[in-house]
Amino acid sequence: MIQISIGDEIAYFRFMSRALIIGAGIAGIASAIRLALKGHQVEVFEASEHPGGKLSEIKLGPFRFDAGPSLFTMPQYVDELFLLAGKNPHDYFQYQKLETICNYYYEDGTRIHAFADPLKFAQEIENKTTDSANSVIAYLNKSREIYEITNPVFLQRSLHKFRCYLNWETLNSVFQFPKIDPFRSMNQANENRFKDSRTVRLFNRYATYNGSNPYKAPATLNIIPHFEQHFGAYFPLGGMYAIVSSLYNLAIGLGVKFHFNSYVDEIELKNNKPVNLHCRGKSYAADLIISNMDVWYTYSRLLKGLKVPERLKKQERSSSALIFYWGIEAAFPELELHNIFFTEDYKEEFREIWEKKSIGSDPTVYVHISSKNNPQDAPKGSENWFTMVNVPSDTGQNWDSLIKSSRSAIIEKLSRNLGRDISKLIRFESVLDPRSIDSRTFSYQGSLYGSSSNNPFSAFLRHANFSSGIKDLYFVGGSVHPGGGIPLALLSAKIVDDLIK
Ligand SMILES: Cc1cc2nc3c(=O)[nH]c(=O)nc-3n(C[C@H](O)[C@H](O)[C@H](O)COP(=O)(O)OP(=O)(O)OC[C@H]3O[C@@H](n4cnc5c(N)ncnc54)[C@H](O)[C@@H]3O)c2cc1C
Repeated sequence: MIQISIGDEIAYFRFMSRALIIGAGIAGIASAIRLALKGHQVEVFEASEHPGGKLSEIKLGPFRFDAGPSLFTMPQYVDELFLLAGKNPHDYFQYQKLETICNYYYEDGTRIHAFADPLKFAQEIENKTTDSANSVIAYLNKSREIYEITNPVFLQRSLHKFRCYLNWETLNSVFQFPKIDPFRSMNQANENRFKDSRTVRLFNRYATYNGSNPYKAPATLNIIPHFEQHFGAYFPLGGMYAIVSSLYNLAIGLGVKFHFNSYVDEIELKNNKPVNLHCRGKSYAADLIISNMDVWYTYSRLLKGLKVPERLKKQERSSSALIFYWGIEAAFPELELHNIFFTEDYKEEFREIWEKKSIGSDPTVYVHISSKNNPQDAPKGSENWFTMVNVPSDTGQNWDSLIKSSRSAIIEKLSRNLGRDISKLIRFESVLDPRSIDSRTFSYQGSLYGSSSNNPFSAFLRHANFSSGIKDLYFVGGSVHPGGGIPLALLSAKIVDDLIK
């Protein structure tokens, strides 16, 4: 608002405030859309030459790969942005619901199809393991209960504003805290519910969805299966990158200005308020700034003279990933969009990652093949394999040596389970490791999801979406509240939208 005196009269003019956003990750783009719709003049500064951050794509010869996220849940948070803009989402962004969410392979030859239909899935567990269908249904009901209690307070609002607690829905959630099972680990809860190690491993794996350790993370994270089994898992038409391109186009249509190849090196503060953003030797005046950069680097690199908050330093970083993008010159009809090849000793795998900060000799391998649903991603008769193992964040390990040994272990495991020598079928290859995740998206130590959730109070310890000491500076993305992954990163933009009056 500006005030101008004309004679005795005082006129007030509302002006468009200038909102600058650092980073065109999914939360940065969502924030840009929301602020543009509120009437702000929005500019986004992105270090890379394209939008999307971790949600990116690569091409290797005739193969296309979604380079980061591959599992898409809660598409309604993407749709919501189109609806806010008064558009029909399905005219701009389409997706299909998966009938089988994931295929699980075990070394003893068991193969479990995680059907999207909960009853069919429960029956599959009963048919393939020593656990009953009823135990799965009871488990999914518990998962729903945790969701219903935590969603209003932990996911949809800031946890760090007193006013957010002043409503009945939130208070009700707070009073039900013990029901969300925070004081035992996911593994303890899962072993208590199931007797078969194959079922326990299947449900323990959900800890990796936010880069955590199921033997440490609170059983509250047993909420995650609810997202898949209740709301469903999806695949966007054209691949995961369609999420970015459709939202980027929406933002452009709303007048958002994007600067690519534009690394921001400073947020200049005056009287504890951001006044300018510095980028490539130029200074841009700001009324408010939203950082979609990992909050750790926002403090250590952009807020000169300020230190990384002690609370942030005490939190363990989430795990990272080692990915081989392979153009495979063969077809595997037995594989589907999402496939998991389990290790026999899951506890040891996590001990390697979290205690030894290394990669075990037989890690669980995830193979995502987008060409199953998007055939143009690979030539006919070939497949694009995104082959990933969970690894620790980068604390200076000898990655070249770990990549070499893991590559052999993965090829051996897949060849053993699929009965074909995979090494002979790889025609194109590219590798992503924690160092390149850090350098390409400025994620401290290459962590996929900021800090881990290995502590019962992690949700409260995560950095808030605003700064308590600096006015008009906000944070969005996977490194801050409510957490990592596409749905939560989108929710962080919604929370910041609510905070900016
Ligand atoms: C390998 C992998 C697999 C994953 N799998 C899944 C999955 O299956 N499902 C799921 O939901 N999630 C998954 N995730 C997590 C998900 O990708 C992230 O949580 C989400 O994309 C994070 O979005 P973000 O908004 O925090 O921004 P980011 O993707 O972290 O992007 C931040 C952007 O900011 C830019 N930037 C940073 N600093 C600056 C600066 N100073 N100046 C200018 N620009 C800057 C970066 O270049 C980058 O483009 C995965 C991530 C990875 C890496």
